[in-house]
Amino acid sequence: MHADHEHPHPHPHAHHEHAHLHAAVRSRNHVAAQPEPGHGLTTRRQFFHFLMGSAIAGTSVLELAAHRAAWATAASATAAHHLFEIQKAAEGVYFAFAHPLAVINCNAAIFVRSRDVVVVDAHSRPSSAAALLAQLRREVTDKPVRYLINTHCHWDHTQGDRAYLETGHKVDIIASRATKDLLEGKAPLQTKSPLDSVPQLIEDFAKRAERSSSTAEKAFCAEQIRQLQAYREDMKQYRLELPTITFEESYLLEDAAFDLHLEFHGRAHTAGDIFIYCPQRRALASGDAIHCWLPNVADGYPRLWPHTIDAVAQLDFQYLLGGHGPMQSTRTIMRCQRNYIEELVELVEVSKRAGQTLKEMQQRLTVAKFKSLRSNGYGAFVARTLAEDNTHFGPMPPLQNDVNDNIRDVYNNLDRT
Ligand SMILES: [Zn+2]
Ligand SMILES: [Zn+2]
Repeated sequence: MHADHEHPHPHPHAHHEHAHLHAAVRSRNHVAAQPEPGHGLTTRRQFFHFLMGSAIAGTSVLELAAHRAAWATAASATAAHHLFEIQKAAEGVYFAFAHPLAVINCNAAIFVRSRDVVVVDAHSRPSSAAALLAQLRREVTDKPVRYLINTHCHWDHTQGDRAYLETGHKVDIIASRATKDLLEGKAPLQTKSPLDSVPQLIEDFAKRAERSSSTAEKAFCAEQIRQLQAYREDMKQYRLELPTITFEESYLLEDAAFDLHLEFHGRAHTAGDIFIYCPQRRALASGDAIHCWLPNVADGYPRLWPHTIDAVAQLDFQYLLGGHGPMQSTRTIMRCQRNYIEELVELVEVSKRAGQTLKEMQQRLTVAKFKSLRSNGYGAFVARTLAEDNTHFGPMPPLQNDVNDNIRDVYNNLDRT
């Protein structure tokens, strides 16, 4: 793994953005790396990533033409019909895996009850939420959605809320009280909607396309620009929709099919993260408090977060439906993420006590120094999921960039309680 700590952050506003804006931001970096050996293209999603990703680099002109044609087909199909891949976790429990876009969408968890549907999280724009609703009707059920749950306040989970209020059926939006307060702006958030940075990103892709001699790279940039412009158009329909039902500790949705326990277990990724637990199906929707990318600590509580995960670990579940990255059927990633956050806190705390500056910490605390990243292949796992779930052309930037963001955020938020 590269330890390129001299690498400047690719975006001037990165400190004020969700690190989830990896997609467009990441693609500006150029660091040598190869596609993973034995990368089995077993699903449409992987094939799509293969086409979109580093596999294009280094191919012949003829191959490139073939790639481009397939890539264009895949891209337009994705844009039109396949923002998500809906996977079944258990009876009545589905996971909508979000395909990569220039401006990301979160995943959704879907619970089909006896007469209606409960959806967890609403993506980054109304059109994505509307697309999921249409796909749900096509592929799963025509029962109406009765409840939309926001696991937390971030834009990539809430900006699509409005689409649920326009279905023609009564829909309540449920969140924790803390999440409602954050959405209302009662406390500041580091993680801002990327809308303001879209013009800059478009300009950067245009310049990059101009500089590049690769037709494939030019096509990639054109597609990113198209997606960014589409995002800007979508967001003209955006309006803040506040939760209509809030709670402090827990809220129960009972049904003949199964129950859903909405639970706050302490501060973690934000002040208001909730978990949606279905005991009869042993499924847990966890938003960004537990997911398959490196955790984002920008609005987080690094000292409290591991304890929150410990509390959640008491629940009896098998299927973990996180806000980003693939669904899990074991608890390994949850434990790895917990240990990584704990280690981040320890290392940053020791370095802070020794009088190191943030920059020194980022130089010294390399990926290789983290036991938690080596254990169970966690570092390699998150590097792979980040690469698969974010649009990029050519190699991904090194994991150290994300670790450096984590170090910065833990440094800033170390004593938040
Ligand atoms: Zn988040
Ligand atoms: Zn997110």
